[in-house]
Amino acid sequence: MGVSSPVPFSCGDLVRTLSLVLLFSATTSVFLVAQTPSPQQTLIKAGRLVDGRSQQVQTNVAILVEGERIKAVGAVAQLQSQAPNARIIDLSQMTVLPGLIDAHTHLLLQGDITSQEYEDQLLKQSIPYRAVLAARNARLSLEHGFTALRDVETEGAMYADVDVKLAVNRGEVPGPRIFASTRAMAPTGMYPIGTPNWEIELPHGVQTVDGVDNARLAVREQVQHGADWIKYYSDRRYFFGPPPDSVLHSWVNFTDAEAKAIVDEAHRLGRGVAAHAIGSDGIAAALRAGVNSIEHGDGLTDSLIDVMVKNNVYWVPTVTVGVHVLPRGGVWPALVALERRAFGKALRKGVKIAMGTDVGGFPWTEINQAKEFEYYVQYGMTPMQAIQSGTSVAAALLGQEQNIGAIAPGLYADIIAVAGDPTRDITELQRVKFVMKGGAVYLSQ
Ligand SMILES: [Zn+2]
Repeated sequence: MGVSSPVPFSCGDLVRTLSLVLLFSATTSVFLVAQTPSPQQTLIKAGRLVDGRSQQVQTNVAILVEGERIKAVGAVAQLQSQAPNARIIDLSQMTVLPGLIDAHTHLLLQGDITSQEYEDQLLKQSIPYRAVLAARNARLSLEHGFTALRDVETEGAMYADVDVKLAVNRGEVPGPRIFASTRAMAPTGMYPIGTPNWEIELPHGVQTVDGVDNARLAVREQVQHGADWIKYYSDRRYFFGPPPDSVLHSWVNFTDAEAKAIVDEAHRLGRGVAAHAIGSDGIAAALRAGVNSIEHGDGLTDSLIDVMVKNNVYWVPTVTVGVHVLPRGGVWPALVALERRAFGKALRKGVKIAMGTDVGGFPWTEINQAKEFEYYVQYGMTPMQAIQSGTSVAAALLGQEQNIGAIAPGLYADIIAVAGDPTRDITELQRVKFVMKGGAVYLSQ
């Protein structure tokens, strides 16, 4: 716009200007009055309370919610006198827990047991179509009690996870809090879709990254477009060595220099790094690079477990997807038993195990993510340990202990309830009856 020339100012203009000022003032004061009352208070009466941190189940306590956060947790009578006008939600016949956190999801994927299923999604569905399904998945997940997800890459759908996150944060669609990883990374030729037809370039499920400088550039691009986490594929091609070797091996994707550049650049920009690593070689390479979490980790050995404990690296086992892809055959069925043994060892040695399912690797519409808790109990966790893996431990992996993963003053009011006692029957988590996120109720049965 150019410099405006002086315009004669008429009396009518002055009257109109004054009216506008008065109207604006009146509107402003009304607006201020409407905003003045303290935030909505809600008192939740909890028959049993599993707070996500303590080993103890409390009974007949109350949670006072103010706005989107928890203000107090304590005796019902005390909190009732503290907030006499609070809206009451009576969950006195239920067990109340923190909202669940799944640390390994793919909102933009709808199951891929076969490569055909995977390729159909990347080749025959537009990214907008896939984003619509992702919004559906986010709602389903929230209704199942998951109030936060770490979504570890879009499988060819670029930055659409950030769009879903924005729509959820702006209240346009219901969904969990989303920690997005955008595109993930693998080197040239090491991630689908591949084809022997060199005349055509097919879409890839990841951002192709080669060389140290490109690794840093890719991290910067992904962070620029909204990545909260960086995900890379440490390995592929899983195989057992010749007998008597029972160690699962793999082909490592990145050179150590490339992997270290990814991790260093991500950390420089305040982002954590998740590495897909199934075979022992891929896990070892990821640990050398300094990642924050090992995804899948079926081939964990005793010595690798020791490194994880020493370096405070989290393990996200994703058992549910491992069981789901058994029909793939090949080495996959053997991985389930292998991971079960690794799970027992890791548990005894004190590895921090954060609950993650890899949902999207199986259809969101067919299996409730909370199935994962059932496996953890079968594999040796107490029900309370399993619950904490999907609440306070997952929150710690995300660096979000001050916001989510527990029911405690100051944290977001992300609160769920089940009818029975999940410390006796962990499958109760697959039948969530009540979901609150940030003080708003999304499910109440
Ligand atoms: Zn995955």
